[in-house]
Amino acid sequence: MTEASIVERLYLPDPCSLLMTVRLYHSDPYLKEFTAQIVSAEGEWIALDRTAFYPGGGGQEPDRGTLERLPVTEVKSSGDRVLHRVPGHAFTAGDEVHGTVDWQRRYELMRGHTGEHLLFSRLHELCPDMELVKIAIGPERKSVMVKGPLDWNVVSEAQESVLSAIDENLPVTVRSVPKDDPSLAEARIKVERIHGDEVRVVSIGDIDRAACAGVHVRSTKELDMLLVTKFTSARPAADFEVEFEIGEAAKRTALHLSAAALRAAEALGSRPQDLDSALSNALHGRDKQAQQLRAYEERALNELIPSNIGGIDLYSGLFGGMDRKVLLDAAARLTAEHAACVLGSADEKLMLVVACSPDLDVDCRVVLNEALAPQGGKGGGKKHFATGGAPTSERAEDVMVSAIVKLRSILEQN
Ligand SMILES: [Zn+2]
Repeated sequence: MTEASIVERLYLPDPCSLLMTVRLYHSDPYLKEFTAQIVSAEGEWIALDRTAFYPGGGGQEPDRGTLERLPVTEVKSSGDRVLHRVPGHAFTAGDEVHGTVDWQRRYELMRGHTGEHLLFSRLHELCPDMELVKIAIGPERKSVMVKGPLDWNVVSEAQESVLSAIDENLPVTVRSVPKDDPSLAEARIKVERIHGDEVRVVSIGDIDRAACAGVHVRSTKELDMLLVTKFTSARPAADFEVEFEIGEAAKRTALHLSAAALRAAEALGSRPQDLDSALSNALHGRDKQAQQLRAYEERALNELIPSNIGGIDLYSGLFGGMDRKVLLDAAARLTAEHAACVLGSADEKLMLVVACSPDLDVDCRVVLNEALAPQGGKGGGKKHFATGGAPTSERAEDVMVSAIVKLRSILEQN
């Protein structure tokens, strides 16, 4: 006799059970089809006397499937009942129905859920201060959010430990124990979340025990493969989010990522195994170059020689792709006293600054906009300090000349 039929014999004659749904997925998580009686039909929501549909929980999304070939679009728990949303049904209480769980989806989620137990337990083993904040197990995304001092080394080590546990084909077992059972001291459990007197404890071999009301596979071998695909900050909700994939999806992602790493190593001229240090050197080199470039930019700005318009210094210069902040700082510095400037920076776009010292009667915004307008550009700012840009730098020199001529003619009248 199968476990499911034992459940049937135990529950069907009991009139009290009419209020609650017998959760067949607990006694047999591999049950794909079942027959049940409709207990109530309220709108689109159907309650059955028993169901193999998992209503979600522990971060795992609810099942999908069909009741009498009608799609079950949502499943949820409501007290002791499991409710199934079946749009367009004509069921009434007492009908006998045949249910089919979307097994491909469910099995993937069950493996993901078991993978989450295994991954978290390995992370926790290496990092005992770590706390579980949130689990998400869906077809699109499987992840754990945690609080604690994790880093890539710990994540890598945990992954290796997960793969060993998969190789060892550890059994995944479930048993219910009283809430005050002393053995619970060694289990991962949040007692305040346990309703009722019994706790369902899910064990993976003898390496992990956790309280959980979800559905799991029978052995770690069924996971086949687990790959961490993302390890990112999850602030403020938690410290980190660790995303992972299971089985075939994990293998395919591993292949894609490995190809990307090989290409990156080739581009950096390093051996794949030295990619980390090659990248770190390249980043260090880039920072150093950026620093040097900034020093050159500042020197070029400092060496600008102004033309003199009736005692007023007019600085002008067009530079290639200069750092915006460096250019703005220079414009402010050069025009501190009885001076004006037109500074431009051209890469794909053009950036322009027109500025003058506060003692001069010049509206820099007017000068800037008149020069930029023919190139489809514009800008704004304050009377004595205006910035703007044009979508292309093709006519950058024309813009500069136009701004300088205009500014010059105003300064001559100052
Ligand atoms: Zn679980």
